[in-house]
Amino acid sequence: MPTYDFTRRARRPSDPDVVVVGAGLAGLAAARALTGHGVTVQVLETTDRIGGRMATRSVDGFRLDDGSHLLNTAFPELRRTLDLDRLDLRPLAPGVLVHSGGRRYRAGDPQLTAARQAALRAPLGSPLDKARLGSWLGRIATTPAGRLQARPETTAARALTGHGLAQRSIDGFLRPLLSALLGDPTLGTSSRVADLVLRSYARGRLCLPADGIAAVPAQLAATLPAGTVRTGVQVTSIGADGVETLTHGRIGAQAVVVATDARSAAELLPGLRLPAFHPVTTFFHAADRAPLNEAVLLLDADRPNGHPPLVSHSLVLSELHPSYAPAGQALVATTVLGRRSFDAGGPAGLEPAVRARLAELYGTSTADWQFLSVRHVPDALPAMPPPHNPRRPVRVLAGLYVAGDHRDTSTVQGALVSGRRAAQAVLGDLGLPAGSREAEAAA
Ligand SMILES: Cc1cc2nc3c(=O)[nH]c(=O)nc-3n(C[C@H](O)[C@H](O)[C@H](O)COP(=O)(O)OP(=O)(O)OC[C@H]3O[C@@H](n4cnc5c(N)ncnc54)[C@H](O)[C@@H]3O)c2cc1C
Repeated sequence: MPTYDFTRRARRPSDPDVVVVGAGLAGLAAARALTGHGVTVQVLETTDRIGGRMATRSVDGFRLDDGSHLLNTAFPELRRTLDLDRLDLRPLAPGVLVHSGGRRYRAGDPQLTAARQAALRAPLGSPLDKARLGSWLGRIATTPAGRLQARPETTAARALTGHGLAQRSIDGFLRPLLSALLGDPTLGTSSRVADLVLRSYARGRLCLPADGIAAVPAQLAATLPAGTVRTGVQVTSIGADGVETLTHGRIGAQAVVVATDARSAAELLPGLRLPAFHPVTTFFHAADRAPLNEAVLLLDADRPNGHPPLVSHSLVLSELHPSYAPAGQALVATTVLGRRSFDAGGPAGLEPAVRARLAELYGTSTADWQFLSVRHVPDALPAMPPPHNPRRPVRVLAGLYVAGDHRDTSTVQGALVSGRRAAQAVLGDLGLPAGSREAEAAA
C-alpha cells in the first residue's frame, strides 16, 4: 500500500528539481513546460514506454492504436503544444456517415450552409428541421467557450431535447455522434462538456497522425532534454520532497507532480477523488478490400429496444493513410462502448456479434474479414457527470501537485491543459514569475 510522507529530507546532487510521475500526455506536457523554464525534471514511468493511454502497436504490418483515438484540430491546447505540421495529421472526411433503419446517410458536415443541409437526403426531419440543425451547429461553433460553460448544467442526454431540434435530428445524428465523441453510450456526461465537444466538432476536423496516435506523446517527449524520461521506474510512495520507487530507491526533489491515471493517483494520494470510468473496447479487422473508399466516421444510430447499440462507430483506418495496413489490405477499427460482461473468452467473445453488425453497417459481407485484435480498456475515460469541474485543483500543497485528464476533461485537450496548469503551479511556488502569470492566462 503506498504511503503519504511529508518529512523533508536532504537532496542529492543528482536529484532533479521536479519529479513527474507518469509519462502520459499530462506528465510530458508538465515536463515540457517546466524544462522550458530551466527547471530540471525527471519523468518516472512505470511501463517500458511513454504515452500512457496513447499507444500504437504494430501487428503483422498493421498499425493498431490502443483504442481508436480521434484528435480534433480545434483542440486549442493541441495547437499550442504541438507542431501539427510535423505530426502529419490526416483529416477524416467532413461530417459523418450514419447507419439507421437499414440505410446509410451523410450528416453533420459543419462546412455546409444551412440551406445545403436542408437539401440533404438524410432522414433527419423536414428540410426545415435539417436547416435548423445546420444553423444550430454553426451557432455552437461560434459561441465562445466561456458562454457554453455558463449555461445551466444537466446531463448531455437531457440537454439534447432542449435545443429546439427535431427528435429525428437528435436520434439520427446528435445522439450517436456525441456517444462516439464522449465514449459515453448513455450520455450521462455533463451537458457543458458535451457542448464543448460539439463546439470543437463544428469548428475543426477529426484527424489522426499518419504514424498513429503514439506520434503525439512521442513528439512531446522529443522536445525534452535527453535523459528526462526514465521508463521502467514504478513510484510506490510520494512526498512533497521526493518519491520512493520500487527498484530505484528514493529520488528527492523540490516538487513532485503526480501525472498518473486517476486510479493510480488515488492510490498515491489517498483522499483524491476516484471517478467512475467509461470502458472502451476496440476491434480491429483486416479485409482484402476496403468496405468504404474514404475515411469517414460511420455511426450506428439504431437503438435496439431503446438501448445503445453494440457498435458505436467504425472507421476504415487504411483509407486515412495507407501505412495503417500492408499493401493490398484494409484495416477497420470498430469501437464498442459501455461496461460489458465477458465470458471466459474475454472481449474476443463479442467478435462474432461485432462482425455480424459490421456487415449490416457497411452493407457488405464480413465473413472473410480477418479478426486481428481486440483491445479492452476498462478505465479508458474518467466519467464527467454533472456537476463537472473542468479545472479541478492541481496543487495539493506546496511541493505536491496532481495532473492528468481527470483534473480537466477526459480528452487529449484536458490532459495537456492539466499538465500545463500543474507546471505553472510548481513554477509559482518555486518563485519563478512566469508560472503565476501564465497560470492566470490558462485559467
Ligand atoms: C481507448 C481510448 C480511446 C480514447 N479516445 C480518445 C479520443 O478519441 N479523443 C481524446 O481526446 N481522448 C481520447 N482518449 C483519452 C486520452 O487518451 C486521455 O485523456 C489521455 O491520454 C490521458 O493522458 P494522461 O497523461 O492524463 O494519463 P495516462 O495516459 O493514463 O498516463 C499516465 C501514466 O502514468 C503512468 N503511471 C501510473 N502509475 C505510475 C506509477 N506508480 N509510477 C510511474 N508511472 C505511473 C502510467 O503507466 C501512464 O503512462 C481515449 C482513451 C482511451 C483509453
